[in-house]
Amino acid sequence: MDILEVKGLNKKYKDVEVIKDVSFSVKEGETLVIIGPSGSGKSTLLRCINNLEKIDGGNVVIAGNEMIKEYKNSKPIYNDKEILNKINLYTGMVFQDFNLFPHLTVRKNITKALTSVLKKDKDEANAICDSLLKKMDLSEKAEAYPCNLSGGQKQRVSIARCLAINPKIICMDEPTSALDPELVGEVLKVIKNLANEKRTMLIVTHEIKFAEEVADRVIFMDEGRIIEEGKPEDVIKNPKEKRTREFLKRYINVGGN
Ligand code: ADP
Ligand code: MG
Repeated sequence: MDILEVKGLNKKYKDVEVIKDVSFSVKEGETLVIIGPSGSGKSTLLRCINNLEKIDGGNVVIAGNEMIKEYKNSKPIYNDKEILNKINLYTGMVFQDFNLFPHLTVRKNITKALTSVLKKDKDEANAICDSLLKKMDLSEKAEAYPCNLSGGQKQRVSIARCLAINPKIICMDEPTSALDPELVGEVLKVIKNLANEKRTMLIVTHEIKFAEEVADRVIFMDEGRIIEEGKPEDVIKNPKEKRTREFLKRYINVGGN
């Protein structure tokens, strides 16, 4: 079943189109990796799917729920609040720079949405938090503040926070780009485990070797469009399009991966 359908999506900032007629779908349990040069629209695409940006055309459908109800005079009319609230809980986002609340402990960062949005009682929220921290190998950090964690630990807390609401779709925007090289591996390992558990994920990354290992499907974007889409062994190992080849050349020659 397609858990996500992106249909003819358009997004403009002022008059500049940054997402141009993008369509794709994602099946439940699939890991989709999005690659492409800086400025190609990858973050904007994830933000539109997470309803963090207003869209200008097309639609995003999550578990059968349409974000846009209809178009009136070419203007999108967003669906009813009840449906949008549901859609918002279906997606979770992990950001490059972690976006943790600096004034809250790890535990409070993870339980905040559970108690305030999902109205779970404190004991249940804490139990969910403890099991996620265990899974992230961070049990001893529950009462620490983000400023006392390494970048890799912060990102693992941010992944735990995303998992706490049990989203149907996990979006990660360059989850390892802000990390020192020696900390990248611990975060990639956690993401790989989630892929093995068949969590549905959309991951934007420049870690090409990782993409090859973890992706069921890869999308290459350039200038707001999908240029190529397919299995990693095709898009990464044997790209059809010249633009994909030129982009990948930089990663395969520089950095040795
Ligand atoms: P990527 O994540 O692939 O690097 P982005 O989605 O961040 O690309 O950006 C796509 C384009 O949209 C770029 O040209 C960028 O400058 C522009 N853009 C991104 N965010 C904004 C914004 N808030 N306001 C105006 N332009 C933006
Ligand atoms: Mg980006």
